[in-house]
Amino acid sequence: MEINPYEVAKKQLAIVAKEINLDPNIHERLKYCQRILTVSIPIIMDNGSLQMFEGHRVHHSLVKGPGKGGIRYSKNVNLNEVKALAMWMTWKTSLLKLPLGGAKGGIKVDVKKLSKAELERLTRRYTVEIINFIGPDKDIPAPDMNTDSQTMAWLMDVYSMHKGVTVPGVVTGKPVEIGGSLGRSTATGTGLFFIAEAICLKMGLNLSEMTVAIQGFGKVGKVIAEKLYNIGCKIIAISDSSAILYSEDGININELMQWKDKYKEIKDYKKNSVQNISNMDFFKLKCDILIPAATENQITKENAEEIDCKIILEGANGPTTPDADEILKNKGITVVPDILANSGGVLVSYFEYIQDINAYFWDLERINKELKRVLLKAFEDVYTLSQERKVTLRMAAYVLAVSGVAEAIKLRGHYP
Ligand code: NAD
Repeated sequence: MEINPYEVAKKQLAIVAKEINLDPNIHERLKYCQRILTVSIPIIMDNGSLQMFEGHRVHHSLVKGPGKGGIRYSKNVNLNEVKALAMWMTWKTSLLKLPLGGAKGGIKVDVKKLSKAELERLTRRYTVEIINFIGPDKDIPAPDMNTDSQTMAWLMDVYSMHKGVTVPGVVTGKPVEIGGSLGRSTATGTGLFFIAEAICLKMGLNLSEMTVAIQGFGKVGKVIAEKLYNIGCKIIAISDSSAILYSEDGININELMQWKDKYKEIKDYKKNSVQNISNMDFFKLKCDILIPAATENQITKENAEEIDCKIILEGANGPTTPDADEILKNKGITVVPDILANSGGVLVSYFEYIQDINAYFWDLERINKELKRVLLKAFEDVYTLSQERKVTLRMAAYVLAVSGVAEAIKLRGHYP
């Protein structure tokens, strides 16, 4: 049965609401997204025919500042998914104490079926349709699944053309040449790596000796795979939407990156002892660290019991359902939750946003130093609270994140 991500997100909120005795009025308000926009996007395809696409942009909460969150292009995009992702962004920005809210967007499209020119027209028309919804002081999109710095460049161009001035601050994750930040494209994976180091330190494990399985080999999966491989971790399995590769001896990630750049998919990579395995077998693999870095609802009550690792590091948003969380807790598996583990992306997006406002750009050393400092502070806060309350890291992260938003609502009151 399809799992509705928005129901999952609301269930997570209900669990933490109970834990912190959340004011029922505030709980009620947080269950809902503040603004939802659904648009129809007409595109003339390369063959001259017209095709309609559906897109969304959702603001879950703007109580702490402009909305922040990526834009996803995928054939699975639907409003419930976008609403859940927007809610998770509210918690993520709150956990990092950023003056931002939570938002998300997406278009239901199979990007593999569109040419680059069609994708450009799709992005430009989507931008026009949501133009009054976004802006540096309203809502600042960024890349997510199947979108990248080029997508953001098109978005920024359309917004700027309509405003009559160049507005770099309308999106983050732009190319550096037009106001992007150094380190943004690798920020989520870099942040995951810092968090992996931190949790291993707490658990008395040596990160470089860990065996790792990674689901997803995109912007997040590639960076964390490369970083772990380069310090000596054995990456025993890695997947993209075409295949799941497994090798008991470890996969050469540098070679696989070159393969993916050349062939776009990993399915035909068959070096040394590498073989293809099923999704079911992937989640049964014995390893030290499992990194879901693809999409939501991957670890569920159907497969959680069989998972055999010490740490789950959530690179993806919402990869674990609440039912699975309970099973993993009972099995003694440490789950580092998405809103902490993958928050390096939104953090460097925030750095990009303030660099654009100031028209003054930082060097990579400063970006990475600030990224590490802020992430490790959030990690320590979450870890300490989890020890004090004897709760999971997810519960501790949610306690901090939801309490921050609840306090802001309390201070501002319920208008009118
Ligand atoms: P991406 O499009 O660059 O890569 C996604 C990867 O996952 C691709 O390799 C794709 O083939 C693979 N994939 C998709 N469905 C799969 C499946 N069912 N099984 C195995 N592999 C599958 O996207 P990304 O930016 O790397 O995002 C991945 C996840 O990380 C998403 O949940 C996203 O919301 C989250 N995230 C991304 C960022 C960011 O800065 N890009 C920040 C925080 C969280």
